[in-house]
Amino acid sequence: MRAMLLAASGPPLRAADVPPPAIGPGQVLVRVRACGVCRTDLHVADGDLPATKRPLVLGHEVVGHVVRVASDVEGLEEGARVGIPWLAWTCGACRFCRQGRENLCPRARFTGYHVDGGYAELAVADARYVLPLPDALGDAEVAPLLCAGLIGYRSLRAAGDAERLGLYGFGAAAHLVSQVARHEGRQVFAFTRPGDADAQRLARDTGAVWAGDSTAAPPEPLDAAIVFAPVGELVPLALRAVGPGGVVVCGGIHMSPIPSFPYELLWGERVLRSVANLTRRDGEEFLRLAPAAGVRPKIRPYPLADANDALDDLRRGRLTGAAVLVVDDAAREC
Ligand SMILES: [Zn+2]
Ligand SMILES: [Zn+2]
Repeated sequence: MRAMLLAASGPPLRAADVPPPAIGPGQVLVRVRACGVCRTDLHVADGDLPATKRPLVLGHEVVGHVVRVASDVEGLEEGARVGIPWLAWTCGACRFCRQGRENLCPRARFTGYHVDGGYAELAVADARYVLPLPDALGDAEVAPLLCAGLIGYRSLRAAGDAERLGLYGFGAAAHLVSQVARHEGRQVFAFTRPGDADAQRLARDTGAVWAGDSTAAPPEPLDAAIVFAPVGELVPLALRAVGPGGVVVCGGIHMSPIPSFPYELLWGERVLRSVANLTRRDGEEFLRLAPAAGVRPKIRPYPLADANDALDDLRRGRLTGAAVLVVDDAAREC
C-alpha cells in the first residue's frame, strides 16, 4: 500500500510502498478514504512531543471502510464506514479508566503517534475504539469531526454553560465548535491572528457574533474562552477577557510557554484548565450531536501524496478551515 512515512530524521514525510498491515485479535483493517490533518500531526512531525515509533504513519482523523475483521470481533462487519480517532487503546484497569476518564489513562496509545494512522491506503484499529459516523456527511467532510470536532466538543463541555464564549485561534476546531455553540444558543466571539481577515470571515460565516484580533478586548466580558492556538501568550489575554467565575480552557496538546501574569487575572474564581485527548463517550455523543446541530465542516482536500503541502499550509497559517487528505480510487488501483 501507499503510505506517507515520518522518518526518525523528521519531516518532510516520504511517500513509500509498504506491505499492507496485518490485523491481530480484536482488530479491524480499514481502507482509508480520507484523513484529516490535525495540528497534533505537526507537533509530532516537528518533535514538539516525545518521539515514538519511526517510521510512523501520521493521521488520527481517519475515515474508511472495514475490509477485514478479526474472528473475535463482534458488532462490526466488512463494509461498515467507521472513523478512527486519536484514542487507539486504553488499559481498562487504571483508576482513570475505571472512572470513565480513559482520556487520562497513563498507558493510553494514540493513533498516528504510538500506532500507525491514516496517512496511508490502509489502517488497522482496535475494533472497540472505532466510531460510527453520521451518514449526512461525506468521507472527506466528516474527517475533521474526529479530532478537531471532538476535542472542540470536549473543550466546549469543559467551558460549562457559558452564554458568551470566546474562541482563540479560529481553525479546524473552532469553526466546528462555533457551529455547535450557535446551535446551543450561545454567542461566539472569535479571536484570530491579528489581521487574518479570512479566518474572521469564516468565524462570522460559522456563527460568531463578533470576530477580531486576538490582541483586542471583546465588546463585553465573556463567560468562558477556549484557546485552540498553540500560543501561550493568549492565555493571559483570555483570562483578561472572561469575567469573574469565567473558565479558560486550553484545547491543544502542545503550547508555547505561558508568560507570567498578575494574580488579579485569575482572582474572582476564574478557572484555567486544559482538555486532554477524548473518551469514546465523547466521540459517540459528538458524532450524534454534530448532524443534529447541522455542523458543516469547511475542508480543503489534498491528495494523499501532497500530505507535506497540507502540513506546510497548516504550519504557515495558510489554511481556512480544515485540511483533509483524500485517498482516491485511481491511486488505490496502483
Ligand atoms: Zn487506563
Ligand atoms: Zn488531532
